[in-house]
Amino acid sequence: MTEEKTKAFYSLFEEMAYHITRLEDFNREAFVDCLKRICELFEIAKGVTEFYLTPKHENDHDGEMLIDYDNGHGDVIVMQRRIVTRSKAVLIGTLYASKDAAPLDEEEREKLDLLLRTLLSFVSRNRLIQVVEQLGFNDEQGFPNLRSYIRYLNTMQEKKKLTAMTVACLNLRHFGVINQEIGRPLGDKVMRGYFELLQKAVGESGVACRMGGDNFILCFEKKLVDQVLQVTMGKAIAYDSKNDKKVMVSASAGLFSIPEDFVLDGPGFLLDRIMNAVGMARQGANGHVVFYDESVSRRRQVIQRLQGDFPKALKEREFHVYYQPKVNVETGELEGAEALCRWIKDGKIVSPGDFIPALEQGLEICDLDYYMLDRVCEDIARWLKEGRNVVRISVNFSRKHLVETDMLEHILEVVDKHQIPHEYIEVELTETTTDVEFKDLTRVVMGLRSEGIYTAVDDFGMGYSSLNLIREIPWHVIKIDRSLLPATEADEESITGLMYKHVVSMIRELGMNCVTEGVETKRQVDLLRNTRCLVAQGFYFDKPLPVQEFENRLDKQFYSLFL
Ligand code: C2E
Ligand code: MG
Ligand code: MG
Repeated sequence: MTEEKTKAFYSLFEEMAYHITRLEDFNREAFVDCLKRICELFEIAKGVTEFYLTPKHENDHDGEMLIDYDNGHGDVIVMQRRIVTRSKAVLIGTLYASKDAAPLDEEEREKLDLLLRTLLSFVSRNRLIQVVEQLGFNDEQGFPNLRSYIRYLNTMQEKKKLTAMTVACLNLRHFGVINQEIGRPLGDKVMRGYFELLQKAVGESGVACRMGGDNFILCFEKKLVDQVLQVTMGKAIAYDSKNDKKVMVSASAGLFSIPEDFVLDGPGFLLDRIMNAVGMARQGANGHVVFYDESVSRRRQVIQRLQGDFPKALKEREFHVYYQPKVNVETGELEGAEALCRWIKDGKIVSPGDFIPALEQGLEICDLDYYMLDRVCEDIARWLKEGRNVVRISVNFSRKHLVETDMLEHILEVVDKHQIPHEYIEVELTETTTDVEFKDLTRVVMGLRSEGIYTAVDDFGMGYSSLNLIREIPWHVIKIDRSLLPATEADEESITGLMYKHVVSMIRELGMNCVTEGVETKRQVDLLRNTRCLVAQGFYFDKPLPVQEFENRLDKQFYSLFL
């Protein structure tokens, strides 16, 4: 090795050392250029470094390979160094030369050895810093975590950009059921796929993180709100591309638009707001999308109070059954009734709309539904004993029950405890939105049917009606929601009127019974009769009645149709 070459090497080596010790403003371009000149000096054609987190990763070839220099003539390996760090990471550096290059002398090999080792310790330090970051800012499944969200908020605050942002908390809807249905590993894949869509929606300038389970937090520019909400409304995610299998994933979203005068002081304030809002959204408020304002936190407090009061209220029998008659519009005969819950709290009647959504947040609703069934059976048993005319009573069951595996057994246990003939009981269930729920629903309805208990679809025509729901599941009764029933003469001629008539005739052709809810006027009764929906439930005949009043209707049996 000539003296000149030695000098040139040291000068380049010093330059490289300068670059790799500049931690705060590492200049990769200058560093790579320096390496390139060293390689040229020694006629090295290609330099490669490999990094493996552990020897096992090395064995499995699961690591990273960096090619820092390659002039395309690297035919033979001239030097290779493998080092194992104290933390057991493995680094391999390899230098290649063209087969026509002059062989290296002893001194040259010494210099290259120094170069390689320096390079490897630099790469190892760099990679390990990244690994530590990875561990600190990501969860065990590799999703960015809450810390990375907080870091992002702080950066945006420093850049004075935070007030241009919206923060959001999302909770995936029915994800537990999806997991149950397609299995955990595919469930993970679906979650990953959905998360990628969220990341895309928040864009380069935003951030999406997971807060554990199926909860996510986002921060994104205000102008991207619609884009993000498109993803929360629902996207089909493929989980088995071979068989083209997809599942619909949607999320409840709580959002907070950061106000102009906002100053970040820890993440608590923002988290508090979006968690409150997502709590409301999860109950189905406003189509599962809630923007935080002060009323959200007030409503939240009300819900928590209701949930807290529930166990005692149930024990003290504060929930009462009201019966709303169902009437045959051709004969005026009382055909059945729906049991509706009323909470008599401090002497005041509270309507289900004010407490059912709160109870549906947890599993309290399930307890309430079984309690209602129990009270209904108690009444029927008494009526039978008293020799009264008895009609079939329908009881509402929340969708929350669908995940229970013993719903059927539980219902039978209650009904049989009171020795009620099964045909006196009807179970009302609402429509479902996902394929997975659909399967659970089929299982439950078939089970009830085989036991002789009647089943009804509640609120048909509201929300996400799926024709599959009535084509593939053998319901006894379809209850048409009042939003589909024309209210005026003009409505009868409109699209609503047309739909109503066709829905009724479709249900009849499928051999199911049809009940229309919310019948309030004589005109509507006539419409039902003409459309041949034979059963009406609504204020025209009666409001939901306390039990003694309903017993009068049972005794009378008929309504006069010509009021
Ligand atoms: P739903 O099952 O669709 O019950 C019918 C609702 O429509 C009742 O409201 C009833 O009072 C109302 N309604 C009946 N006729 C008319 C009418 O002519 N005009 C108008 N505007 N409304 C009419 P309610 O009792 O407030 O119940 C609301 C909802 O709460 C029920 O809707 C049901 O989804 C739920 N719910 C009630 N009791 C229970 C229960 O024990 N368990 C469960 N899971 N849900 C219940
Ligand atoms: Mg109902
Ligand atoms: Mg209904």
